[in-house]
Amino acid sequence: MRNFLIPIAVAISMFVLGVFILNTQLWYSAQTDSLAGAKYAIKNMNIILDEAHLATRTAINIAKNRCSLEEQYQLGTEAALLPHLRTIVILRHGKVWCSSLPGNRVLLVNVDSLPDSQLLLVPARGTVNNLPVLLYQTNVADNRIVVTMSDRHIRDALDIPLEGISYSLKVGNSALGRSGDVTTENETLSHFRLVDAQNYPYSIQYTAPPVFSLPKLIYRAGGILLFLLLLSCLAGYLLAKYLNKNTLPEEALRWAISKGEVIPFYQPIVNGKEGTLRGVEVLARWKHPQAGYISPASFIPIAEKSGLIVPLTQSLMTQVANDMNAIASKLPEGFHVGINYSASHIATPTFVEECINYKGSFCRQDLNLVIEVTEREHLDVNESIVQTLNVLHENGFAIALDDFGTGYSGLSYLHDLHIDYIKIDQSFVSRVTEHEDSTRILDSVLDLARKLNISIVAEGVETQEQLNYLNRNNITFLQGYYFFKPVPFTELIRILLSKSKTKVI
Ligand code: C2E
Ligand code: CA
Ligand code: CA
Repeated sequence: MRNFLIPIAVAISMFVLGVFILNTQLWYSAQTDSLAGAKYAIKNMNIILDEAHLATRTAINIAKNRCSLEEQYQLGTEAALLPHLRTIVILRHGKVWCSSLPGNRVLLVNVDSLPDSQLLLVPARGTVNNLPVLLYQTNVADNRIVVTMSDRHIRDALDIPLEGISYSLKVGNSALGRSGDVTTENETLSHFRLVDAQNYPYSIQYTAPPVFSLPKLIYRAGGILLFLLLLSCLAGYLLAKYLNKNTLPEEALRWAISKGEVIPFYQPIVNGKEGTLRGVEVLARWKHPQAGYISPASFIPIAEKSGLIVPLTQSLMTQVANDMNAIASKLPEGFHVGINYSASHIATPTFVEECINYKGSFCRQDLNLVIEVTEREHLDVNESIVQTLNVLHENGFAIALDDFGTGYSGLSYLHDLHIDYIKIDQSFVSRVTEHEDSTRILDSVLDLARKLNISIVAEGVETQEQLNYLNRNNITFLQGYYFFKPVPFTELIRILLSKSKTKVI
């Protein structure tokens, strides 16, 4: 597995940390703003209450006299000129003695039974006109001065334009907010904050800003969030690039196999005599997302050394069976499908079972499934490998000895192994030119192959001279760039469709 978990974790952590810092900053400023809002509401309320205090002083002077018409007029003028006041009432021995309203009327119900605390919130039902009101009361000798303030002015004082925060006036257990009537609560709920006023006995109550609110975060800092997301992704991407730069080739190959980046290419094999398409050899290609197609010469040795050759070949077998099944109706009878197998894979205990399952997965059971075993590397042909290949031969597989003539292992095993094809290595075929001498080595290799009485496939046919020579020598199966290069599956379909009715050579 390539190093992706760490970069992903780093990118997520960076983003989460960024969101945390951003949220904390927003929460902190929301707290500061809401507190400033509460202080501003106190300032507004104090202006109203200062008016009430002023009016009380006038009322105290009147209380010393008689509540004559002139004095009542003076009280009415005071209530009218001080903008936030509604009425001024003087109670004597609990009864209305003088009022700013004509005829000493009051707008309060049961005024004589109201508690005499300095500030009092009276709900709508306690007033004649059914509007809540704030009372400012002062006791002087036998008199109680009651100044009433309209709910409208109080609500205006609480109108602080801060989103999501609502303020209310709290006097004792009663509260009056921006809307509705006076409410009574015995204790302050945990999501409320209280700020006490200094000069008068009241508090401003407000809802505490939530510690985390996604809509608010997006609304307030959407742009920064997006920037943070891009920055985290970029950091993760750069880290992934850096970490994977030094990834071991095995790790990269393991990842590629699991992601299906190692795919089969197909090189057609033609029948030199009939000129028809006889089959294909499967050649692995690594379809690298950045580097393009990588040659098997660079990764097959790594796969063999690391043991990845087993999953690599298994993946190819599955893909080849799927590909052939997709074009089953287009394949000529007995079509060869050859796959290269490494000795280390053949030596695994499950190899026979894998091959039998592979064969079983083909729709067409008449296909000639070829197992190509190379002689180029030191083929440790021990008894067990010979036995394995013979069992597969008995089960309908064809065995091809690849790169014939290049091996170091000697030919002793040829007696015991049931070989169906010998593939003459391209290094011999490529020497064939128009010069007579050039065919000497190939002559002797072919001679040896003929003596073994096994079908021959010539690899690496590139020129007309090579083709003429092979035809003269009755080599049936030919493979090389002269006919076709290894091609992807889509190209093979095209070749099959165009050549199915005509001869290829
Ligand atoms: P090979 O099995 O001898 O495959 C034939 C190689 O010769 C292929 O190279 C093919 O592209 C190339 N070739 C075919 N015709 C011509 C031609 O006319 N001229 C020239 N110059 N070259 C030609 P490729 O595909 O690069 O494969 C190289 C080797 O990698 C293969 O040699 C085989 O030994 C190994 N290999 C490829 N795929 C696999 C695989 O799936 N498993 C294993 N174990 N080995 C593989
Ligand atoms: Ca081969
Ligand atoms: Ca070969």
